[in-house]
Amino acid sequence: MTSCRLCSSQAAYLIEHAKMMLCRDCFIKYYEKKIYNTIMKYGMLRGAGRVTVAVSGGKDSMALLAAMNRLVSEKFPGIKLIAIHINLGIEGYSERCQEIVENVCEDLGIEHVIYDLSSREGYRIPDLKSTPLGRRICGACGTVKRYLMNRLAYEIGSDRLATGHNLDDVVELLFEFYLKGSVEDLVRVRPVSWSDNPKMVTKIKPLIELTERENMYYAMAQGIPLLAASCPLAKGSRMLRRKRLIGLIEREIPGFKHMLYKSHVKRILPRLEKTVPEPSLTECEKCGMPSLSNMCSYCKLVSRLAARSAENST
Ligand SMILES: [Zn+2]
Ligand SMILES: [Zn+2]
Repeated sequence: MTSCRLCSSQAAYLIEHAKMMLCRDCFIKYYEKKIYNTIMKYGMLRGAGRVTVAVSGGKDSMALLAAMNRLVSEKFPGIKLIAIHINLGIEGYSERCQEIVENVCEDLGIEHVIYDLSSREGYRIPDLKSTPLGRRICGACGTVKRYLMNRLAYEIGSDRLATGHNLDDVVELLFEFYLKGSVEDLVRVRPVSWSDNPKMVTKIKPLIELTERENMYYAMAQGIPLLAASCPLAKGSRMLRRKRLIGLIEREIPGFKHMLYKSHVKRILPRLEKTVPEPSLTECEKCGMPSLSNMCSYCKLVSRLAARSAENST
């Protein structure tokens, strides 16, 4: 039997980058302390009243929701937590995602909103496959989720939108953006995206310093059901291939992911923020939400979809 580094009862989880084995109870404390420290370090909840947690039903966002629920009741009793889930209409997958969200929210007593893409917006994510956006369907799906999550959080009066982005997600983005030299994208990879535009809710990433594996452990330790399958549309995506590659680098250079993240946030980001101008936002003439040009990327996507279905019906 391997014993826990902190209390000598039987260890259950290996924290790889710290080469540390922990038992279930010590792991839960370690994990929640890490989120708390991240929240405090970046002032994520300073002045917050209503926090929306974007939940997909996957291990990261469900771990985030469960941990935030504990932290809010223990340390930030003035904050109201609301979960939002978008049902993306991916057959054989989205049903199960929604079921997990509903079960966990009901168990924990968390108010939740389910937004059904098909009945509310008139299309499903797989419909994008037949458009030119289909080749990069994960990117298009990301646009949909980012836009709707912000709009829904704004409509229910939230002053923060918390997402389950973890260290692996962020390092994958950094890897891509550094490789391409996309400084405008790099400057947006940060723990908090503050906003003073009332229609753009401030986004926080409380899991940014935790790995995918740590989130999975926490979900398991808290008895949160795990999705048996990953999204069928993401199979073979560039994102997954890059993550696998980063896993190989991490094996050769232990601590690589933490190092790249820390160098970015501590050394490079402060300099980029000084030199890369914030994009100036205008209002989308179709939906009225903040946009870089006269039509926002979401409305553009929806109009391409509408054009394609008009073509098909003639
Ligand atoms: Zn222990
Ligand atoms: Zn728009």
